[in-house]
Amino acid sequence: MTDCLFCKIVSGDVPAEIVRESPGTVAFRDINPQAPTHVLVVPRDHHPNVAELVASDAELLAELVRVAHEVAAAEGVAESGYRLVFNTGAQAGQTVFHVHAHVLGGRGLNWPPG
Ligand code: IMP
Repeated sequence: MTDCLFCKIVSGDVPAEIVRESPGTVAFRDINPQAPTHVLVVPRDHHPNVAELVASDAELLAELVRVAHEVAAAEGVAESGYRLVFNTGAQAGQTVFHVHAHVLGGRGLNWPPG
């Protein structure tokens, strides 16, 4: 998608601090971090949200979750605990409609989220 921000990060047209790559995914630091570790993991292919991704390519979703855990381990937050978030839809706070897992960790995280 030519007008998708995360497609442009995947292609290198928009710069980002990439921390991990796999055949199907790219992980990069969130530009407005909400925790000491805040990394976004996205598929290279454009899918608008997690529901559409699991319906069209469940293996790619599994790869994305695996990479999210690898990021948490590499960031040193896997043992203490981290949160994966897929905001899905505008009311849930999704602002970029290219599916992404937020990997959040490095501080205590409140529940329920706001
Ligand atoms: P959402 O609100 O769940 O869709 O998450 C979108 C995330 O993308 C937000 O946490 C933003 O801070 C982040 N974001 C927006 N633009 C950029 C960028 O150019 N680089 C990295 N992260 C970005």
